[in-house]
Amino acid sequence: MTTTTPIATHYEQFLHLLTRDTGDTGDTGDTSDAAAGRDALRARYGERIDASGATQAIVMSRDEWILNQIDLTLALGRLLSEDDVVVSAVPYELSFVGAEMDRVIEMVGASVISVGTSRTICPMPRLLGLIEQYQVTALVCAPSFAAELASLALARGQRPQDTTIRTVVCVGEACSTERLDRIGAAWAATTSTLYGTPSTPTAAVPCEHGALHLCEQRLRAEVRGHPRGELLLDGSPTGELVELRPAERGCDCGAASRVLVPLGSVAAALPGPDAPVSAVDVERIVFRHAGLTPHFACAVRDGAFHVTCAVAEAESPAGGALQRVIRGEIGDALGVAAEVTVVDAKDWSSATS
Ligand SMILES: [Zn+2]
Repeated sequence: MTTTTPIATHYEQFLHLLTRDTGDTGDTGDTSDAAAGRDALRARYGERIDASGATQAIVMSRDEWILNQIDLTLALGRLLSEDDVVVSAVPYELSFVGAEMDRVIEMVGASVISVGTSRTICPMPRLLGLIEQYQVTALVCAPSFAAELASLALARGQRPQDTTIRTVVCVGEACSTERLDRIGAAWAATTSTLYGTPSTPTAAVPCEHGALHLCEQRLRAEVRGHPRGELLLDGSPTGELVELRPAERGCDCGAASRVLVPLGSVAAALPGPDAPVSAVDVERIVFRHAGLTPHFACAVRDGAFHVTCAVAEAESPAGGALQRVIRGEIGDALGVAAEVTVVDAKDWSSATS
């Protein structure tokens, strides 16, 4: 971790230069014009899917793009070092996160293998081969991807906990700490999460306690409903359900910025007795059961959560008993209806496709 201090210093200086110019300095008049001109420079095009399912264009300015990268570099600089070989299995096409991740991993001084998420050129068995061949030490991917890759390794007679992977950074999908711990145990790795939206790839970054702190120095965040509701960033609805907690109640690390708890999309939540109930709440109940693998799928249909989870091959589900127990626990704890299916981990793909 010897390289993190100079990188942090470098980026803090860069940040100072950028933000100084965007303020109303008024000293020459040229400065604010230059800043306004630069802010209008378009750096990247991406797309997102809105609540109605339609595709919307997103254009990021050069300053936004660089500021997102700085926050992510400072955060990943605490998790990775120049000795790391990192697999980036995040979306690249028409999104910001893949390109950002590549730049940031390089800035930290680590090596990157970009595999994306299409699974065409680099399907999972090939990725397992690359991990072995190049002694990959860190995975950046969705939690469901990390779970599936671990179970594929097991199915091929490998032990994921014996690979060179020591860090798993989860992005792109809300995940409870309970499931994150299960993923960490499967890989014998430390885990952390990052949070962004299609328009703002870095919106919250983890502190040393693992809590996600909002990047408040550049984002204005509000929630519709308190403390849980739809996240608004700079006044725009994101379609994302979150909880925002004041720093002093959210985390012991001493950071001044609020703590954000991602809860998936608003569309994937159900109305509960007091506040919307999300799949992350369901995860917290489900993963009380020790025998489950880190697999988890949850969809809303007909006013109920349809949950699929898995047990390892060595253990068999005791008939429908476990399913009934989990369904009852979800109803008791959350006040929502759920259908639960427990499958053998090796049948995961066919059960959830
Ligand atoms: Zn913290």
